[in-house]
Amino acid sequence: MPKFELHVHIEGAADADTYFNIAQKNKVKLPVSSRQAWQHYFEFRDFPHFIEVYTTAVNSLRATEDYGFLIDNFFQHQAEQNILYSEAYLSATFIIEKFEDEDALDAIEAAIKSGQEKYGCVVKLIPDIGRMIPETQQQVLDFVLKGKQRGLFIGLGLGGPEKGYPPGLFTETYQEARRGGLRTVAHAGESDGPESIWGAIDDLQVERIGHGVRCMEDPALVEALRLRQIPLEVCPVSNYCLGIVEQGEMHPIREMLDAGLNCCINSDDPAMFSTNLTNEFETLASLGFSWPELQQLNQNALEAAFLDDDEKNRYRKGLEESERS
Ligand SMILES: [Zn+2]
Repeated sequence: MPKFELHVHIEGAADADTYFNIAQKNKVKLPVSSRQAWQHYFEFRDFPHFIEVYTTAVNSLRATEDYGFLIDNFFQHQAEQNILYSEAYLSATFIIEKFEDEDALDAIEAAIKSGQEKYGCVVKLIPDIGRMIPETQQQVLDFVLKGKQRGLFIGLGLGGPEKGYPPGLFTETYQEARRGGLRTVAHAGESDGPESIWGAIDDLQVERIGHGVRCMEDPALVEALRLRQIPLEVCPVSNYCLGIVEQGEMHPIREMLDAGLNCCINSDDPAMFSTNLTNEFETLASLGFSWPELQQLNQNALEAAFLDDDEKNRYRKGLEESERS
């Protein structure tokens, strides 16, 4: 089935091999020395280890061309899974700390252009603010607006730990982003509860929510999300890995859909959670989701994408054809 994905992080999608190659090139010392040991180390174990792997991996990125490798790797994985269109997050806070804006944009632009030619699928980028460093928000926005002018970035996101960094800290930056023509999303209702989602929709007026699974704790919020049909980018395997949902329990996406919410499914940090979008569909199938339900979730992603109607129509036609064959 041709697929669409809206919540996946470029840095979390690069595999162990890619980071090993980058670390070797940059002469960055990893906690283990052989490629094989690194591959083993890279596999998901628990939350503290995930943070360790993530930090070590991102720390090995020392040159703008390293983002080129990550993006190429990303295109390859999406193409292998027949994901025709992706909107992917990029941790802009880390980029602006290390590189000059124009140098980073040059490297990203070259990688997107060559990825599209080489693999034939489309990847649009949504850089996000690391909410734990709110003082970078204006600088991130400037970077994102420069990238938008070059046709590279389509929106602004908000990532990182929710607790202690509520959406309200970023209200003005989001207003300015919208004035600059950026689409807006934010991670909310993953590691923190309904308040965080209320903040994302009321303070930031986001068009989509990253995760949002904890909305089920507040019936008034569920009703608001249902009435406004705000798309929720649900990432099942990530939720199980990080303990947002207990292993062995039914994932709340079932109740969310029953409540009339607009959900799609995504892989979040696929390489680090040993998953990918195909595996997310298989996970839901193993939880009892039917094939038409999975097709609907895929269609929901397309409908929630930041594409104009002509572009969506082209993909809709492709989907219909694939369903007939
Ligand atoms: Zn995420």
